[in-house]
Amino acid sequence: MEQVLFRHNHPDRMVSLEEYRLEGGFEAWAKAVRAMSPDEVQQAVIDSGLRGRGGAGFPTGKKWSFVPRDLPGPRYLICNCDEMEPGTYKDRVLLEKNPYLLVEGMALAAYALQVNHAFIFIRRGYEQAAHNLRQAIDEARRAGLLGSNILAGGFSLELDLHQSAGRYICGEETALMNALEGLRANPRAKPPFPAIKGLWGQPTVVNNVETLANIPAIIERGPAWWKGLAAIPEAAGTKLFCISGHVQKTECIELPLGITLGEIIDGPCGGMRPGSSFKACIPGGASTPYFTSDHWQVAMDFDAVAKAGSRLGTGGIVVFDQNTCMVGATLNLIRFFARESCGWCTPCREGLPFVQHILERIEDGLGRPEDIDILREHVQRLNYAFCALAPGAMGPVEGLLRLFGDELDEHIAKGKCPFKGSRSH
Ligand code: NAD
Repeated sequence: MEQVLFRHNHPDRMVSLEEYRLEGGFEAWAKAVRAMSPDEVQQAVIDSGLRGRGGAGFPTGKKWSFVPRDLPGPRYLICNCDEMEPGTYKDRVLLEKNPYLLVEGMALAAYALQVNHAFIFIRRGYEQAAHNLRQAIDEARRAGLLGSNILAGGFSLELDLHQSAGRYICGEETALMNALEGLRANPRAKPPFPAIKGLWGQPTVVNNVETLANIPAIIERGPAWWKGLAAIPEAAGTKLFCISGHVQKTECIELPLGITLGEIIDGPCGGMRPGSSFKACIPGGASTPYFTSDHWQVAMDFDAVAKAGSRLGTGGIVVFDQNTCMVGATLNLIRFFARESCGWCTPCREGLPFVQHILERIEDGLGRPEDIDILREHVQRLNYAFCALAPGAMGPVEGLLRLFGDELDEHIAKGKCPFKGSRSH
């Protein structure tokens, strides 16, 4: 299978700049800065069908096209590397293996947007990735691939790395911009979207690491070639899937978008662990509703997964076997989201701890029949939160109610968790 993101990877170490360049690295950048107009780079990204890999799947070229080019003052590009969605570790693996790909992708994006100052906002704790990026930025600058008048093409770009102080909400793009500005990391109202009014009030594009890392291949090999890497015609490109849970092999793998869930689990994951059978999974990071064995044949692409009732999200697949209590699993996720709420808006601040409380009492055998309706009501009400955190947190709760209602009922009827004592409880 053709790979673009992991093409230069070595199993045990980061690729060097020399190796990356010998294998064609930075050729797309040289080609763009010498022989392509910014509009041509943007058009290639539009034509490729690249959709954002941070979780929302918004078309990347379209996002870029919203940026006004005629306003006075600077524009900014931010790479969101505040990867903190439970079950998601793809950006860390990518940067630990090959930080040059992000540097090249950011250079191309900055050129298309005519941005001269770009930022990488990286999660605290991603120390190796941050170290690699610092090295890659320094080396690229020394090689004349960043800085002023790059490759004598007249374009200049400075790249700054910022390590987050460390909260889940900092990955929300507007909270991230507040954090970069030195303010408390509360989300801002959208609209205006950052593309219009972002960092320091200026037009700003925020793209995920994996999104940007795809751009060199799009420019180097062309948008049609890149689009054709997907397993189905409706999808475009490859995707990093990071798998955890009760499978034989848990790892981050680059696969064609549109490959089925079953092909991922039975293929590179080596199937379920001995004694385990597939019960359910989180298909795309902790804020996505569950899939069950009924979804085995679903193509793992944005639209197909949405049609099947969930979201492709980040591609972080967490697999659960037959001994997993889905109430307990959901409670575990809700505890995370309730803790990470920034407290800015009432539905999220008050709603998530309340949902946690209801799930706790059901799991502890103290649930009441009316708790089911309370949970249903909260799936609706938390949609009125200020940002995507609370609605996302309710994704697994919605999946629990829709797909595992019998398990909830059994907890309440028996006055205990039927899975207590099971291995993977
Ligand atoms: P969103 O759908 O509101 O926006 C997606 C992107 O498109 C944003 O950059 C937004 O600015 C842009 N956009 C959307 N409509 C626009 C318009 N009309 N004009 C200009 N720009 C527009 O989603 P979001 O709140 O940015 O992100 C939510 C997602 O983040 C969830 O799907 C979740 O899966 C994901 N997430 C990922 C992580 C992680 O660790 N990678 C963590 C938490 C959440």
